[in-house]
Amino acid sequence: MFRRIRSYCLFGIKAVPVSVEVDAAQGLPGFTLVGLPDNAVRESRERVVSAIRSIGKVVTGFRTTVNLSPADLRKEGSALDLPLAIGMLVSTGEIEIPQLDRYVFVGELSLDGLLKPVRGVLSIAMNLVAERDCVLVIPRGNMQEASLVEGLHFVCANSLGECVEILERNSNQDVKIAKGIASYRVDVDDKVPDFKNVVGMDAVKRALEVAAAGAHNFLLVGSPGAGKTLCAKCLPGILPEMTEQEILETTRIHSCARRAGDSDDFKPVMARPFRSPHHSASMVSLVGGGTRLLPGEASLAHNGVLFLDELPEFNRSVLEALREPMEEGEISVSRASGTVVWPARFMMGAAMNPCPCGYSMDPKRECTCLPEARKRYREKISGPLLDRIDIQVSVPPVDAAMFAVKGRGESSADIRRRVCAARAVQRERFRNLPFKSNAEMSSEYARKFAAMNPDVERFAVSAAAKMELSARGYFRLLKVARTIADLRGAFAVDVMDLSEALRYRAFKG
Ligand SMILES: [Zn+2]
Repeated sequence: MFRRIRSYCLFGIKAVPVSVEVDAAQGLPGFTLVGLPDNAVRESRERVVSAIRSIGKVVTGFRTTVNLSPADLRKEGSALDLPLAIGMLVSTGEIEIPQLDRYVFVGELSLDGLLKPVRGVLSIAMNLVAERDCVLVIPRGNMQEASLVEGLHFVCANSLGECVEILERNSNQDVKIAKGIASYRVDVDDKVPDFKNVVGMDAVKRALEVAAAGAHNFLLVGSPGAGKTLCAKCLPGILPEMTEQEILETTRIHSCARRAGDSDDFKPVMARPFRSPHHSASMVSLVGGGTRLLPGEASLAHNGVLFLDELPEFNRSVLEALREPMEEGEISVSRASGTVVWPARFMMGAAMNPCPCGYSMDPKRECTCLPEARKRYREKISGPLLDRIDIQVSVPPVDAAMFAVKGRGESSADIRRRVCAARAVQRERFRNLPFKSNAEMSSEYARKFAAMNPDVERFAVSAAAKMELSARGYFRLLKVARTIADLRGAFAVDVMDLSEALRYRAFKG
């Protein structure tokens, strides 16, 4: 009998409909699989036959032909195991499924018939939700993702046996309806350190507050042990909550990045991601791609922070590859089968020592680097990359005595309130424009929204000339000043705002 089973494959972040057509005929027993399967799909026959045997059914006495369509799309991974198993079971007449057409199946099978979660279920769910009467059948390990898409009808099962039982029963009570993001509670991540434990670094805390308020990229320069990394790790605690749209966007990427063997308790990404790849990271792990077309760290940081500690230690070509997402908010990876586009809009944070030995800014220790070495070290960061970092700040070594004298610092919660207020101003400002934050404004808008009176503008222009800022550098200055004015709730940028913004240019650019 011929049967067609609906399923999906991933192409980058996109879910593409695939049908698994199975024809089981009388004749010499055999199995043919056509339609551009990759190795994982090719091997699925062995898993599927064994899983089917585990529920006491036999499908091997037939001449079976399987076609995966559309034929020109390369089918990857093991998510087609479940649709293939169902297809073989119904086409051989081993089971009967009422209303087969309304189901869409994805899931990997183990030899003993257990259903294992697959990646990209959120993308599939978002595609299907518009289709009324359609029911998505998934492994239980994918339930959390499916639940995010409000209104989606789905069924989940732990094993092929349970799945068959549910489908044969055909009862509406087995079909769940997703409640959406609102049903999720945002858990406070207690692993994020609090700024109240960071004392004697008020200037750095302030710089990060400005960065968070306008989504500006930032660079911290200071001696080893000055607390650069600690400050950066506190950042997630002062960032505004994600909107529902942002949660879906970011979770969708993380869902596509799930690897085989990852634990089953996949959680939606409810808080802004903070990704901190090691400086030995390869191009593929940072920007994505590779044979399986997985997203890289830059995409996993979408709507959050990509933090590069020890910036000059990163491979230069890897850093240059980040310029595309920093400008476009996405990364495209070209393949023979087409171009995959990964969203990658993140705040870039970085930290570095001022020189190879690390102590050229330390009043108590002597720098042992030759001037030539110091210059080479700084030149590892290219001008164009540096040019995109709005806030560059030096982190002075903290005097240990300060910890005792100053007591507790201002808490992340207090700082966050100001950040959120400033973001609310920006949301209102960009209501009908394609920007979400001051950092994203184009030059023409930077000048317009700075709303400087003529005296202030003259000051800005002459300061920029004195600091030899490029045209781009000048507009970056205005954007940061705009954020500083937003933090104090002012309509127009004034000289004080500009002066503070000028201090955030430790390097020229
Ligand atoms: Zn040095």
